[in-house]
Formats: sequence, structure tokens, C-alpha cells
Amino acid sequence: MTARATRVLVLTLLAGNFFEILADHKQLKAGFNLFSKEQDVHLGQEAATKAERDLPIVRDRAITDYIQGIGRRLSSQPQAGGFPYTFKVVNESSINAFALPGGPTYVNTGLLRAADNEGQLAGVMAHEIAHVALRHGTNQTSKANLIQLPAMIAGAVLGGNGSMLGQLSQLGIGLGANSVLMKFSRSAESEADLLGTQLMARAGYNPIEMARFFEKLEAQGGRGGPEFFASHPNPGNRRKAIEEEIRTLPQRNYAEGESDGLRRIQAQLASLPPTDRDARAQGIEDTRGGQVPRDGQVPRAREATRPSDRLREFQARDFSISYPDNWEVFGSNDSAMVTIAPREGIVQARNGTSTVGYGAIMSFFYPQYNDGRVDLDRDTRDLIAQLKSSNPTMRADGNSRRIRVERENGLLTTLTSESPFQGESEVDLLVTVTRPQGLFYFVFISPRNEPKQVRGVFRQMVRSVRFPD
Ligand SMILES: [Zn+2]
Repeated sequence: MTARATRVLVLTLLAGNFFEILADHKQLKAGFNLFSKEQDVHLGQEAATKAERDLPIVRDRAITDYIQGIGRRLSSQPQAGGFPYTFKVVNESSINAFALPGGPTYVNTGLLRAADNEGQLAGVMAHEIAHVALRHGTNQTSKANLIQLPAMIAGAVLGGNGSMLGQLSQLGIGLGANSVLMKFSRSAESEADLLGTQLMARAGYNPIEMARFFEKLEAQGGRGGPEFFASHPNPGNRRKAIEEEIRTLPQRNYAEGESDGLRRIQAQLASLPPTDRDARAQGIEDTRGGQVPRDGQVPRAREATRPSDRLREFQARDFSISYPDNWEVFGSNDSAMVTIAPREGIVQARNGTSTVGYGAIMSFFYPQYNDGRVDLDRDTRDLIAQLKSSNPTMRADGNSRRIRVERENGLLTTLTSESPFQGESEVDLLVTVTRPQGLFYFVFISPRNEPKQVRGVFRQMVRSVRFPD
């Protein structure tokens, strides 16, 4: 090729790419999320290990290779978010598929049988990949405003009874079909359809096959459709939305059919053992942590380390704060929730859940009204109500006071409650601040009769809070 021809080719490729970027104007961004991407991966792998103990995973090489080939073709697109995806086939006759946070994706043999062509199968897989890429599982868990989450992250780091997944299931966020982590909202479904459409088009599959397959499943009603729709509720007007999205994508000629491979694999399914549907219909329902608690250990406050007033800085995803250098950070620079506490300040209950008896937690509260826009007074009241419902002994000590945190408006509320340390009560100093993504909150927890110096450390921490512009 001549130099000129090479230049023309390169320019053409660049231009093609450029227009594609322009055309993908429906940029879908992951919503409110307190978890880091790594925590998604960690949680999903824990869940996958647990789920696979109960699920009849197909080991047949040809079937597995086939699904992995389609999965890789879709998940290698940049919009899939670079998660470590894996694809496995489950020997289940129900027409279903699911994906766990961070990438583990499962397709039932029932779904393989039901698809008319590879595009339809790819459509469901693209839809599942989109849920992972948009982080819908942890997004919905974050929006549930479980104020126990930051302590849970600490408990998971410390080990003992509480894995992250086990603690989540104690909070009612397991992996069963109806749990917050796995049951998607209609708006999440629409987003997954749109991103799935983009993934299919980029991978060379005709996205309309996704819409056709969903229509077919719906028409089937009782015969297999509902399993998928139980965790993926139909947002309505699916076909129209997908068609509109296709019109925004660059014109492509999709290979029709692509069904020879699928036919071969469908024939191969006959060699698998019969499915045992009843026993496994709820294959991943039970995910309790369920370890035996250690007896005879009654944590006491005096074992906890008082905060030093030498501070160091921690940078989280959406804020930074200085903290006592003899305390430890439990969280990640990429997440929006963190516990900073001495190890002895974290108390693990018998059921595996963790609470902070001495230390601080920081996170964001997702406003339940007002379209996610923050209202300092109302959302602080909601947050306090949430704190009280998780700890019935909690009382507000007078009214909230206005304060400034960095340059933002904030409130300081003093709460008291029983301490997880035996025979103690505690003071919880709550600071709330309006931020665009939600109500930022910082709770400083200490036993009631601690020396004045401790209150001074709290004030220093509040003054050190910074938000990125
Ligand atoms: Zn879905």
C-alpha cells in the first residue's frame, strides 16, 4: 500500500470512529453508587462461588465455548465497562439468565433452546452485560440507604463472621430473585435495553433480535417467560425504544441469521442430563452468612483506641477527610462510603453484621423524593429516621444546628444511643451536607464519657472535609 493510500485508510478509520462516537449520543452513565467497581467485583465473585454450589453448571466444552464466544464478543466493547466477565451455562429448563455484580453471567439451557437465532441469545446476554456495566445491582443497593453499609465494608475486611455478601443478606439484600441486589427497576430495565442495543450493534448483532425475543417470551406467558421477567420487569414499549435507539446508531448491515452455530449447540444440549427444575428453581435464594458465632466475647469500650490528634488524609471518591493516625481506613479510594475506626471499635454481632462502637463512618444518603435532589433539612430528618429504625435506642439530643462544612451548608445533630459495647451508652455526632449526588453524612461515634480531647478530634475532622469541584 502506498503512503497516500495508508493515510486515506487511517483517516477513513478515524472518521468512522469519530462518527460512531457522535452517533452514540445516548450516553448511559451508571447512577448513584456508594460501592467501588472493585467492590462490585468482589461481591459478585463471592456470590458466584455461593451460587455455583447449588447450580448445575454445564461442563460440556462445545456448549461453554459457544456461550463464552458470544459473551466475549459483546463484553469486549468499551461500553461494557471493562469488568472481568465470565459466562457459564446452567442446566435449567426455565428461560432465564442473570448476571452478578462485576461480571459473572449465567445462561440457562432453557434460554439456549428458546432462542430462534444467535442474535436473540446475544440480545439477552447483552442486556445482562448492560446491567453489570451500569452497576444496577449495587446502584439499587446504594439507593436503599442502608446506613449499616459502611460498617459492613469494615466487617468484611476484618473477616470473622461477616463476609460482605453474608452481611448484605442479613440486611435483607441477598441474591434471591426478589432481593434489591437482583431485582431491577423498570428504569434500570430500559437502560439495560438501550445499552444492550449499543453493545449488540457494535458486536455486529442486529439489536432488533433482542426486542423480538422479549416479545416472544411475553407471548409465551406461563411457559418460561415469567422467570426472566420476575427479576427483569418489562418497562413497556420495549420494541419501540429499541428501534429508536437503533436509528441513532450508525447504519450497519447485519449478517442475517447466524443460526448454524446455535443449531449445533441446541442439538448438543440433548446430551446433557435431564434438568431437575423443582429442586433448583430458586438456586441462589439462600445466601445467609450462617457461620457459628464465637462465644464468651463481650466487647468493651476501654479496649478501643482513643483517637490521636495527629491526623493524616484519606481521599475517597467524592470527598477527602483527615483522620487520627492511629485509626484505620476501611474502604476504597474509589468508593463513596468508608469507615475509619480502630479495629477494636468495630463490633461484630453474632449474626455476622458489624457496627461501629468507636470510630467514624462517611457515606451518602440518596434522597427518596424530589427526583434525587437534596434538601438538607428534609433529607437529614429522613436519615435520622433511618438511623433510629436501625437502632431503636437512638435519640436526638436537642435540635440540629446549622454549620459550614468547607463552603457548603450543613447541619450538626447530636444523637445518643446504647453502645454495642456492653453497659455503655454512646454519643453520635452527625454532620450532614448538601452535595449534588446526595446528602453527605459523617457520623462520629464514641462512648459517652470520653475526655474532651476526643470532641476536639471530631471538630478537626469536620474542618478537614473537602469535596472535589
Ligand atoms: Zn434486566
